[in-house]
This record gives sequence, C-alpha cells and structure tokens, in this order.
Amino acid sequence: MTAKGDLRCRECGREYPKSARYVCEDCFGPLEVHYAYDRIREELTRERIAARAPSMWRYSELLPLDGPPSVGASVGFTPLVRANRLGRHLGVRELWVKTDHASFPSLSFKDRVVSVAISKAREFGMEIVGCASTGNLANAVASLAASAGMTAFILIPSDLEIGKVLGTAVFGANLVGIAGTYDDVNRLCAEIAGRYGWGIVNVNLRPYYAEGSKSFGFEIAEQLGWRTPDHVVSPMAGGSLVTKIAKSFREFAKVGLIEERPVAFHGAQGDGCAPIVEAVRAGRDVIRPVKTPRTIAKSLAIGNPADGYYASRTILDSGGFAAAPTDEEIVAGIRLLAQTEGIFTETAGGVTVGAYLRLLEEGRIGKDGSTVLCITGQGLKTLEPLQAALPPPPVLGTKLEDFSTWLEKDKPEKEKP
Ligand SMILES: *Cc1c(COP(=O)(O)O)cnc(C)c1O
Ligand SMILES: [Zn+2]
Repeated sequence: MTAKGDLRCRECGREYPKSARYVCEDCFGPLEVHYAYDRIREELTRERIAARAPSMWRYSELLPLDGPPSVGASVGFTPLVRANRLGRHLGVRELWVKTDHASFPSLSFKDRVVSVAISKAREFGMEIVGCASTGNLANAVASLAASAGMTAFILIPSDLEIGKVLGTAVFGANLVGIAGTYDDVNRLCAEIAGRYGWGIVNVNLRPYYAEGSKSFGFEIAEQLGWRTPDHVVSPMAGGSLVTKIAKSFREFAKVGLIEERPVAFHGAQGDGCAPIVEAVRAGRDVIRPVKTPRTIAKSLAIGNPADGYYASRTILDSGGFAAAPTDEEIVAGIRLLAQTEGIFTETAGGVTVGAYLRLLEEGRIGKDGSTVLCITGQGLKTLEPLQAALPPPPVLGTKLEDFSTWLEKDKPEKEKP
C-alpha cells in the first residue's frame, strides 16, 4: 500500500517508495506525491486548521513530510491584502494581493518550497543540499540551510542582481556563478545530484519541493473566508507555482474544506523570456524553449521551463490566459503597486501587475469578478531597473529657508494614481 509521501508517476501511474527521485523509470514522466485524501477528509476541518499557528504548516496533512518540519517552522501565512486603492484606480470591484514579498525568512515565496525540500532532505538523512537558482531560490536555500546548520551548494547564472548575490553569500553558503543561462545551470545541477548524491531541492527533491507551493493557494482560500477567487494571476518561471495553486484549490475541495467553483488561472512572464505565455496565447501546450532570455525579470528567466507543459494545460483548461509585459511595463507595474497599495515588489511582481493590466484591457479578466494577484518577491532585491526610472532625491542645505525655497519653487508636481 502507498503511504503518505510516496511517489506516483503523473503520466503512467507507476508507484515508488518515498525517495530522492523525480522521473519515472518507465516513461520519464514527473513523479508526484501521494496522499490518502479519504482519511484527510474525515480528520481535517476548518476549525482544526484555524486553531493552529499561522504558518504554512497548518496544512501539514496536505504537505509531504512524515513528521514536523525541521526547517522553516515559521514560514508562510503572509497577509492577503484587499487592494482597494488599486482596484478603484482600475475600476475593479474585488481585488486582492497575496504578499509573499514579505515572506519569512528570505522575502520570497521560495521559503515555502525550500522548507519542505530541506525538511524532507533531513528525513532522508542528507547532510548537503543545493539548488540551481535565478536568485530567490538561492536566498531561501542559503538562509534555511544556515538555520539548520547544513552545508549548501548554490549555483546561479553569473549575471544576477547584486541583492540576490549578496543576499545568498551572507549566509555562508558555497555560492558559485556559472557563465551561462539558468538552463545551463540547471543541467549542471542535475549532473551534480547524480555524481555526489546531494539533495538538490529543485532537481532530485523536486516532487517534494513543488508541493510547498500549494501552501500559497491554501492560504488564499482560507484567507478569502474558505472560498476561491474568480481569477488568479501568477508569475511563472519553471511553471510550477501556477499549477500548484490550482492543485491546492482542487485538494481543498476534495477534502471538503471548500466548495469547488471555477477559477481562471492566468500566467505572467517578462516579454524577453515568455515561453509559457507564448504557448498559452497560441492555444498550445507544447513549449518552444527560449535560448537567450532578455528581461529585467531575471527571477522568471527560465528558457526551458520544467513544468511549462502542465502550466499551459492548467491555464488553458481553466479558461484563463497569459500575458508578457515589456521591461517598461514591468517597472510601471512595480511603481503602480507601490503607489496605490504601499507594497514594494521585485521585478516578478511588476510582471504580475503588468500582465494583469494587459489582461484587463484585453477583456480576459472582467472587472466584476474577484481577482488575486500573486506577489512573490521583494523589491529591495531588484533595485537596478528602478535606478533609471527614479531620479535621486534633491540634496538641500541645512536651513529652513533652503527647504521653503525648494517647496515653493523647485518641488516637482507629483501625479497620484
Ligand atoms: C521562482 C519564482 C516564481 C515562479 O516559480 P515557478 O514555480 O518556477 O514558476 C515566481 N516569482 C518569484 C519571485 C520567483 O522567485
Ligand atoms: Zn511513468
């Protein structure tokens, strides 16, 4: 009999005992974690969940660990904020923002996936973990491995933002830049996992890692008062998050915590690296890899997304759509969210807002329904593209008259959205 945490091939159904593996030996399909939903349905209630500590682990029956987490026990339960000022500005009735730019401890939703993956690595008796990363995963693995006293090897493309680089190095991880794209880095990490047997969180621990993203969706449903929204707009890199939010809503319905209602999932990528968006907009689920990504949204710049096929299927089957804003639209999206809601997101969040504006304009998202924007990373980590857009502040003398002169003569007019 399969136990919680065992693996099952998504394509052919072959079962495997829980282990650090990720592809089916028969058909090369991806492996997924198995749960005993019937039993969970009997035991898990809204009241039981609501009585637990405000972290992602309040849904532990639907997360793939055998015991309590050994890493990241406080991760999750970021606020879901009603975005009234942004909603009014756009003429939208019910708009929400999920705020993982404020995630503990490393300021992106990657804290969720890494807590699961490193806790699982511990359950497997592994001492060394690692990852291939576009930045936020590097920050999360370095931070959470440090908190567990574990050794980490982290590989990144050598041209990442300084905030992501220093925000990894500070934790004392073995950080290596690779002269190549994320896809080159990822291939190398798969080979490293094979040779050294380390727990590479997004390679051989991927089935467990990916389950951590479901907590983002569980929280949205609980925080909306045990219901799902009409629309979700999610940024996409490898394409896992958007599929796991969809899975989280299906699972909540399956175990009787919410009613099953249609939700349209929409995907967002920067236009210089948008292989999943391109597929969705063409009505395809076949992904054409992008060889040389060129976008300021580096955290999303994966040319050959591992879950691209499932992401585009999830979106197309839900009646959602996808959009790829330009670099200028990404910066405008960051500024609009900051000025209307006081939320400072990184470039990936600018992609989400920029894509949302396009989808509103195209009529793919209506103004009457409820929409959740997924904000997944922190603005202080990607300051570079803002430097060109926001001039440095004026420097005044120390006298009151200096200030008054500036206020009356030189202060530029500010337009408020
Ligand atoms: C990794 C990442 C994503 C997308 O994650 P996938 O599951 O790979 O699609 C979204 N936003 C940010 C900020 C990320 O770092
Ligand atoms: Zn298979």
